[in-house]
Amino acid sequence: MTYFKYSEPLFRPPAEAYSAIIQATLGCSWNQCAFCEMYTSKKFKVRKLEELKPEIETLSKIYVGAKKVFLADGNAFVLSANHLIPILEEINKHFGRIQRISSYALPKDILSKSDDELKKLREHGIKLLYIGIETGDDELLQLINKGETSESTVGGILKANNAGIETSIMIINGLGGKMYSEQHAINSAKIINRINPRFLSTLTLSMPFGESHFINRFKGEYIPLSVVELFEELRTFISITELNNVIYRSNHVSNNLILSGTLSKDKENLIKQIDKAIASTPRGLYPSSPLML
Ligand code: SF4
Repeated sequence: MTYFKYSEPLFRPPAEAYSAIIQATLGCSWNQCAFCEMYTSKKFKVRKLEELKPEIETLSKIYVGAKKVFLADGNAFVLSANHLIPILEEINKHFGRIQRISSYALPKDILSKSDDELKKLREHGIKLLYIGIETGDDELLQLINKGETSESTVGGILKANNAGIETSIMIINGLGGKMYSEQHAINSAKIINRINPRFLSTLTLSMPFGESHFINRFKGEYIPLSVVELFEELRTFISITELNNVIYRSNHVSNNLILSGTLSKDKENLIKQIDKAIASTPRGLYPSSPLML
């Protein structure tokens, strides 16, 4: 039996549950978002091709028949095209008929690449980037220390889309608490309307190290939202979206309400489900934090 050990902790999007995972980088190159503890235990590291070659070969024997490969960790797309392309060639050599290679990315990781480089990466198999934009509200982007603006976010995502790379976008429900809830919902819907990504998902703010730890890192005033207020924020967000054929999911472990549909076709139905959840939830109920985002 072939044995392989990842560098933990290891995260991947729910849609990559059956994908082969290759750790092209360790940790997150930014690692400063106020709400995120995913990689705070790891020092960011770029892994050399020579180190990855035997791993890719081994993983191709473990994930026999895998159709998808996910490049971990936090934002493997930070790697330059010159560094990524030989890794992709190695994956294609050992995995054969792979349908899609994907990774997490920050908008700045896309903007740092030329149009030609993005097209080459697409030709080598990168067909999807997962981007946690978290919010479309510039004030909140600053308060959470995302290191991006709404303009850099739109610019990066549209640049990837123009090169034929699809995007899966994540927004965090409840990110700014009560103080910023309305502007977060409205401006997040507006930015999603400008991007019209292939996939959209909403997660709920969770605090694995506790509320006071988050408050120390958040640069604004944080007042938690009750479950009903989280649903109301989500309702505002969904109701403002005007989208064309965007696959929407709220199936992350952090969510209190699981939704799925295609926006805007299923918008009214999704709003009805949220209204039903609002009507049947006690107003004084607060979410309990899951273990990890
Ligand atoms: S949210 Fe993404 S970019 Fe921000 S620290 Fe976490 S992994 Fe890095």
